[in-house]
Amino acid sequence: MLQVEGVHKSFDDFKAVDGASLSVKEGELVAVIGPNGAGKTTLFNLITGQLRPEKGRIIFDNVDITRLPAYRICRRGIARSFQIANIFHRLSVFRNVQVSVLSQRQMSRKLFRFSGRMAIQETNRILKSVGILDKAAYTAGSLSHGDQRILEIAIALGNRPKMLILDEPTAGMSPEETTATMGLIKQLAEKEGLTVLFCEHDMDVVFNVAQSIMVMHHGRTLVQDSPEKVRQNQAVQEAYLGGDYA
Ligand code: ADP
Ligand code: MG
Repeated sequence: MLQVEGVHKSFDDFKAVDGASLSVKEGELVAVIGPNGAGKTTLFNLITGQLRPEKGRIIFDNVDITRLPAYRICRRGIARSFQIANIFHRLSVFRNVQVSVLSQRQMSRKLFRFSGRMAIQETNRILKSVGILDKAAYTAGSLSHGDQRILEIAIALGNRPKMLILDEPTAGMSPEETTATMGLIKQLAEKEGLTVLFCEHDMDVVFNVAQSIMVMHHGRTLVQDSPEKVRQNQAVQEAYLGGDYA
């Protein structure tokens, strides 16, 4: 479904992404791991069109999306969350998701009222699927940090994506919230048939959940393989044991 082939991105002289490659099959849960500064967020920005690669190719659903602007990549079916939650703090939880549902349907103002009921059902369905329907009336800013991250996933789902890209979905969460969130992500992949690509700096968190793991190191792909193979991989062990993962 997604094929990233040798992409490069520099900031001045610094090669943040230096020939990274990645492949994601439909329905798969793929993790990108690597230490802080490995280039994970930059790689995601290249995939979703926030940044453009200087070299390389990105194919999504049989279409070359390498040079497409972010909004068109989003319309083709890739939705994302950010490392720092991107929500409307003063709107209700419900409204945050409803706005996303309506904008995906490209409803004009005139159609707003007409489409209202449909959007309500869809919004409720999404809030239920991520387990925060009981908090629909809360203002988004009043949610716990963990629930704000979950809300961000719900907003992304409002775009009816084929693929969900999550940048450190468990960052700043307690161990309990982390376990619950990873369970939720796994459930979304299995029950909703979503393809999920996420990055995570904590190796332990991903090994139980991901079907495929890409290890990033200094902007490059060290390896992409099953969790067992990655665990046994010599180059990964050297990179980790070398103290880079402190
Ligand atoms: P990760 O998400 O794996 O922690 P990032 O992709 O955020 O890594 O960053 C990779 C490297 O690129 C880091 O050294 C970071 O400082 C640098 N970098 C990222 N974005 C920018 C930018 N906009 N300008 C300059 N340097 C950047
Ligand atoms: Mg990052």
